[in-house]
Amino acid sequence: MNVLLSLGSAVKIGYKKGTPLHDQKTCYLMMEGECNAGCLYCIRPKDKNKLSRIPWYSYNLEKAIPKIESNFERVCIQTVNHSNFLSEIKEIASKFSNSIPISVSLSLKEYNGIENLYGYVDKVGIGLDCARKDIFQNFKPYYNWDKTWFGLKKATEIFGDYNVICHLISGLGETEEEMINTFQKLYDLKIYPSLFSFTPVSKVDCFGIGPPDVVSYRRIQYAHYLITSKIKRYEDMTFNKGRIIFDEKDKSYLKEEIFLTRGCPSCDRPFYNESPRTIIYNYPSTESVNLSRIKKEIGI
Ligand code: SF4
Repeated sequence: MNVLLSLGSAVKIGYKKGTPLHDQKTCYLMMEGECNAGCLYCIRPKDKNKLSRIPWYSYNLEKAIPKIESNFERVCIQTVNHSNFLSEIKEIASKFSNSIPISVSLSLKEYNGIENLYGYVDKVGIGLDCARKDIFQNFKPYYNWDKTWFGLKKATEIFGDYNVICHLISGLGETEEEMINTFQKLYDLKIYPSLFSFTPVSKVDCFGIGPPDVVSYRRIQYAHYLITSKIKRYEDMTFNKGRIIFDEKDKSYLKEEIFLTRGCPSCDRPFYNESPRTIIYNYPSTESVNLSRIKKEIGI
């Protein structure tokens, strides 16, 4: 069977020419076919060879697997919504030899049946994407907010504590406080929040919004670190008109790892949301984090 490999994944196993700027740890592969999810911020329905700003290329999976297993620490299967796609995830996962762990990234309209993936993948990424119900309803008109929260909880019961990763996109109109409150709610449910920055792509930027303010994004990353490291809870944080205010003690925790891509172990998603030549929202490695620049950005 054929699957799509992200450009960086294809370069690492020698299928595409290129000079990687980062030694990618996770191989991102995507199911082929039309997606009927209808999320308004996604380029996939308009260009089935792209996800976010990344181009993807079709290869034979069986031939690629030995190269993937010997070059990466993890595989992440990006799914497209169509009938019977849970069976296709199982088919893809079952072709691997169990030598590296497998994540799956999905958004389901109904979560009955997610238990069928147990034993095939160790981590499940679920796209809530939006931190507020009205934003969710605007951007994901074919999905249901309550059913997605139900799915997050149900998947956690099946796959275990912090083995469910909730994808969230910053920059869709929510406040810092709403995003940070969502982190806390998820973390209390033993679900790990994973943050993306909104990536406007030509012609799908349907609401005329640009990428999020990077200074605000850094503050949200910082709060994510404080919550997921159990240093501070949302209820103990201070906000002014939706914007978080850090105190002197909070600032003492500043370090490179706070600004890394966070999600499954080894998930690095290099340059998924941004060109390497522009502002980096999620850094793929600690070596690439410019901490002195970030200190200036967030005024610490
Ligand atoms: S956190 Fe990364 S590896 Fe895990 S499901 Fe999401 S994109 Fe895939």
